Amino acid sequence: MDVSIAKKYIRQHIELFGDEIYTPIDYVDGSFFKKFNNVVSTHETIDRFKTSIENCEKCNLSLTRNKFVFGSGDPDADLLLVGEGPGKEEDSKGEPFVGRAGKLLDRILKAIGYNRNDNIFITNIVKCRPPENRNPLPSEVEKCTPHLIHQIDLIQPKLIVALGKVAGQTLLKENMIIKEMRKKIHRYNNIPLIVTYHPAALLRNPSLKIDVWEDFQYIANFMKS
Ligand code: URA
Repeated sequence: MDVSIAKKYIRQHIELFGDEIYTPIDYVDGSFFKKFNNVVSTHETIDRFKTSIENCEKCNLSLTRNKFVFGSGDPDADLLLVGEGPGKEEDSKGEPFVGRAGKLLDRILKAIGYNRNDNIFITNIVKCRPPENRNPLPSEVEKCTPHLIHQIDLIQPKLIVALGKVAGQTLLKENMIIKEMRKKIHRYNNIPLIVTYHPAALLRNPSLKIDVWEDFQYIANFMKS
């Protein structure tokens, strides 16, 4: 069964029956159903993972950060957005994409009928702010990548969207420019991946809006397929 359909089925099941799963595989205590209590939801698992890494000191970004920015949204999301790294506002609030670029991202998502807490999870390549908003160093990316990989494993999105060159190049392990990465379906650990411009690039260069609009239309159609 397609993973996203399976996830929807499980969500529906949890809404109807709570987080208890019955399987007709055993005759236990006079019941035909074996009951597994406290099946851990993705929400709990992701919260536990966050708690386990939020004091990370694997690289020097931990020395200058105010807050670790794990990511936020729906842990059962079908759509995972990956930015580059927290900026000043994200660093002070501990949430991704809450500054000007984030507000633009919210408007783009709204235009395709999404909002950041519904079926979307947003995170970054690095979870701590690089000083002066410089690009993360390869060593910082390398130390932080296992966190992202584990997030992807837990969320199992239907589609990953890399926002900007740093996210695209990191996830694809390629040195391509953004024009070469756009308009293709790549794969990351076998999950479809699309690259588009970072919303901050749109703020600097509004003429990119047409390309981004096309990309997000494509994303919306892909999500419906
Ligand atoms: N830019 C990013 O890449 N990520 C954020 O969280 C904010 C701005």
